[in-house]
Amino acid sequence: MKKGKLDLIDNMYEYVLDNSLRESDVLSRLRSETEKDPSAIMQIPPEQGQLMALLVKLIGAKRTIEIGVYTGYSVLCVSQAMPSDSYTVACDVSEEWSDIAKRYWKEADVDKKIDLKLAPATETLELLINDGQSGSYDFIFIDADKDNYDNYYELSLKLLKKGGLIVIDNVLLFGSVIDSELLDKKLRDKLPESSIQCVRDLNTKIKNDNRVDISMLPIADGITLARKK
Ligand code: CA
Repeated sequence: MKKGKLDLIDNMYEYVLDNSLRESDVLSRLRSETEKDPSAIMQIPPEQGQLMALLVKLIGAKRTIEIGVYTGYSVLCVSQAMPSDSYTVACDVSEEWSDIAKRYWKEADVDKKIDLKLAPATETLELLINDGQSGSYDFIFIDADKDNYDNYYELSLKLLKKGGLIVIDNVLLFGSVIDSELLDKKLRDKLPESSIQCVRDLNTKIKNDNRVDISMLPIADGITLARKK
C-alpha cells in the first residue's frame, strides 16, 4: 500500500463505510434515486457528506453556501447537522435536479432553512456581496463547473467570515490533475483540458495562498479544506 492510498487495499472502502457511515434513511433514499441519473457521478459519496456534516458542527456553522447543488445530497447533510435557525444559500442552474433536491429537503423538514437560487452561481454570489453580506458566512462548499472554480473561490473568500471554512470538491478530478489520460472517455467530453487546467491552477494557487490555512484530503475525488485567516 502506498502511503495514504486507502483504496489500494481490497475492501478497505467497504470497511470504512461499514464501520463509520451513519446515513439517515432519507439521505440513503436520495442517494439511491440519484444513482439512476445519467450524471450520478456528480453525487458526492456518503462518507464525504458525513465529513461535511461533522465539519459544520465542529465550526458551529449557521450560515452556509453551496455552489453546485445537483440533487441536494450535500445540502441535506449539512442542513441536518445545523441548528433550526441555520440558513443555506443553495446555488444551481438546473430546475430538474433541484426539484429532486427540494422533495427530499421537504421530507427531511429542512426546506425552510434553504434558499435555492436558480441562476449562475457567480451572479448569485455577487448579488450577496452587493447586498452587504461579505464576511457573514461560516461554511461554503464549491462543487460546480470547474471553469469557474477560481471565481467561486475568490467570491467565497469575500463572503466568508474570518475563521470560516471553504470546502472544494473534485480537486483531484479523477486523477486528471496529474494525467489527463486518466479520465475515462465519458468524462472527457464534460471535462476538456481547459477545465482540468482550471483545477490544477487553483490547487497551485491555494497551496501558496497566505489568506487561508489548508488541507488537501485524498478522499472521495479529492477535497481541499481552506480556512480563512
Ligand atoms: Ca463534485
